[in-house]
Amino acid sequence: MTTAKLQCIACQQDFPLWELRYECGCGGLLEVAHSVKGKSELKDLVEQRLLSRKPWDRSGVWRFREAVVPLETSELVTHQEGQTGLYDIDTLQDWTGCPGLLLKHEGENPSGSFKDRGMTAAVSAAKKLGMNRLACASTGNTSSSLAAYAARAGAQALVFLPAGKVSLGKMAQTLGYGAQALAIRGDFDDAMRIVRELALAGEVYMVNSLNPFRIEGQKTIIWELLQDLEWNPPDWIVVPGGNLGNTSAFGKAIEEAYQWGWIKKKPRLAVIQASGANPFFTSFQAGFKNLVAMQAETIATAIRIGNPVNYQRAKQAIERTQGLVAAVDDASILAAKAAIDRAGVGCEPASAATLAGLKELIRSGVVCKTQRVVAILTGHMLKDTDAIFASQTLQSHEVDANATAIRSLLAALR
Ligand SMILES: *Cc1c(COP(=O)(O)O)cnc(C)c1O
Ligand SMILES: [Zn+2]
Repeated sequence: MTTAKLQCIACQQDFPLWELRYECGCGGLLEVAHSVKGKSELKDLVEQRLLSRKPWDRSGVWRFREAVVPLETSELVTHQEGQTGLYDIDTLQDWTGCPGLLLKHEGENPSGSFKDRGMTAAVSAAKKLGMNRLACASTGNTSSSLAAYAARAGAQALVFLPAGKVSLGKMAQTLGYGAQALAIRGDFDDAMRIVRELALAGEVYMVNSLNPFRIEGQKTIIWELLQDLEWNPPDWIVVPGGNLGNTSAFGKAIEEAYQWGWIKKKPRLAVIQASGANPFFTSFQAGFKNLVAMQAETIATAIRIGNPVNYQRAKQAIERTQGLVAAVDDASILAAKAAIDRAGVGCEPASAATLAGLKELIRSGVVCKTQRVVAILTGHMLKDTDAIFASQTLQSHEVDANATAIRSLLAALR
């Protein structure tokens, strides 16, 4: 039904799918280029698989396997990732001023972030390539995810983290799943530079989103939500942008779904950055002339990235979808997070950038109140509990262990 190869996004040179390679000789990034015969049959197959009980059909990634990475089901390293909910929450529709808002909660993935969708693809590919020393630079979620999938594959996970900048929850997961953690005296961008150097020297297999298989897995966030909307696309899809792997994946997923006739119109992408880590936003405003790397600082640690490696692909994603890039400050991110948490949904700070950005886009009239919008919540609330305790309005009281004491406390609180 499908064949695939690696292709340079800059000069279009082809390479075999299973050649160990991260970039083209020209310096361009690689992507997996699929050629699909029977495009509507594939869509039908994906519909039928919703009734299956097989783990690879239940996975929200591998349900689309022919157009993700063509592997045998026996070759997959899966935790049945994906299958995340799409929520219609009136309090958050009111908060953003967007009645047509739906939220897709990628924090419901096995390790608590969307990274699992990319990681199941990258670790399955690593196994196919015979690589068993897997490495990533991470602000915490990529490392948690790698640790979980490497454990499943019986491979070694080496994670490079900015020392002192990773939340306790993410660190605990990474170590608990059995990864070897290296705290780098530097920031994410330094960690990324080192992993890249080791990978290009062949010493480790790199599973950051430079890895083309990561992008393939993350495309399924879009396909799964389109399938849940019965292939009737929203007007906008809103997502936070850090290293811009997701932005790239979303652009590719939308383009392929459109080219293959799965959807009749393309949703537009709105990428939201934190104003202290906004090189993509700055570049967008200057007509994408170039990318100027910066020193990143924001409370939203998952998007605290000043030199995004997927810039080329992400730029293409914005251009192809007539998308846009916006930036919001940390106070707006925390206000959005408090609203999402209070709605009983919850998410980590980086995820809340989506609703902070959407509220602003609605206010300025860029997104209309009548439009349908899907906002992606990228990570689980428990990923960063410090960001919850920093809130001033939590209700917790220590009280004597008897009903009388409790009655008088409740009366005083009223
Ligand atoms: C990785 C991550 C992001 C940023 O995604 P990119 O693909 O790097 O742009 C946003 N939110 C969360 C929770 C993440 O883990
Ligand atoms: Zn090239």
